[in-house]
Formats: sequence, C-alpha cells, structure tokens
Amino acid sequence: MRLEKKQRYVPVTNADKRFGDIIYHSFRGTTIYVIKGKSGDMLVDTGLFHVRRAVRRWAEKFDIKYIFLTHAHADHDWNAAVFKKRFGARILLNRKDFGLRNGFRTLSPTRKKYWFKCFHLNITGRLFPSPHYKVDIPIVNEGSELLEKLGFKGRFVFLPGHTDGMTALQCGDTLYCGDAFTALFYEPEIPPYAVDIKTMKRSLRKLLSTNAKWLACGHGLPVKMSDAGKVIEKYLNEN
Ligand SMILES: [Zn+2]
Repeated sequence: MRLEKKQRYVPVTNADKRFGDIIYHSFRGTTIYVIKGKSGDMLVDTGLFHVRRAVRRWAEKFDIKYIFLTHAHADHDWNAAVFKKRFGARILLNRKDFGLRNGFRTLSPTRKKYWFKCFHLNITGRLFPSPHYKVDIPIVNEGSELLEKLGFKGRFVFLPGHTDGMTALQCGDTLYCGDAFTALFYEPEIPPYAVDIKTMKRSLRKLLSTNAKWLACGHGLPVKMSDAGKVIEKYLNEN
C-alpha cells in the first residue's frame, strides 16, 4: 500500500494489518483500529464517507459492540450513525465534544505552513457536518473505570487542544490518540490544527508523560513514542 511504503520509520507492517498488538485498517489517509474486549470489540473512530465501505467490510470480521470516537471531527465520526446501526454498537464520545456534532469550531494552524489547509478545512467543516448520531456512553472522566465495566483493559487519557474533548485510550504499550498526534503527512507530526494551541501544547507534554511506547494515530501508521518525542520537544522549544 502506498501509505505504508512512504512511512520509512515504521519497521515492518504485516499483511494482515496487525502491528504488534495493534489491529488497524489504513485506507485513503484514515486509520481505524479495533481493540478486543472480553464481551465484544471496540472500533476506534469511523472515518469519512469515502472509507465507509472498506471500513465496514473490515470491521465485519470483528464482534463490534462499541464505537469509541476520539473526537467529533467529520473524518472520525462521519460513519458513526451508519456503523452504530449496522453493528448494533454503542457510541462513546467525550462530553466536551458533543457540541461539535451540530456546530463546527474554528481551527487554527499549529504551524505557518498549515495556514491554507486550515483555511480550507474551516470552510468545508462548516459546509459538511457529519450525519447526526446519538452518543450512548458519554466519556466524563479519565482513567480505567468505565473501560473496565465494558470489558476492556485500558484507560482514557484526555488530550484537549485539537478539540476540547480530544480523548486517547491507552491499552498496554499503545496510546490510541486520534488527532492528538499524527502521521497524516507520512511522518510523525504534531496535529496541524487545533481549537486551542496553548492547550494542545500542554496535552503534547501530557502525551509524552504516559508510559506508552506506540502512538496509534487517526491518520498514518502507528508512530514510535521515541520518534514522536523528538518532534514534540522541537515544536515546544521553537513555538
Ligand atoms: Zn481532527
């Protein structure tokens, strides 16, 4: 796959789309994950309309009972309504992102070079909101309590900045981090846009302070935390 060839910093990618314990589907710039649970599996994000069929076909191999949305941007929650129906799954989303389902919030570029992309996104984001979906399980607290109840070994980590409710899920060595960090441009990079850059910077420090070794980002393939660390430190020093 084109995406994977470009990502030289990832040593090996198995054909069955597993990277260590990480089960993923990477297609047209979007990466969706599945986390296995005791009583059903969890889909991490759903992608935009252009990946719907491919993601649905892939997800049908699992016993999807939950859909965890890392945040309520269209390229993560567009298919939430249709997948909820297809799988009879319950949707989890941080309560702080509930408002984003009905109203887009202006994003700022985190580097000058992202100005035009951001400008474009601020227009299209308003014009094309995701189909509405009902959240079944609001995420209100960090930690493992809720996940344990649902049969998953892991914890929620709040990393606001890209959106107010940006939420990561840590399972073992892996932090499923949505857009709190990215490999969108085929290399480790801070999120190119944020609703609040100051808050995002605090979250980047917090992300580094977790004991995760891999970042399973919403775009691109999993990134080594050590590689992400270098990019984050440089960004925080220079900005
Ligand atoms: Zn996003």
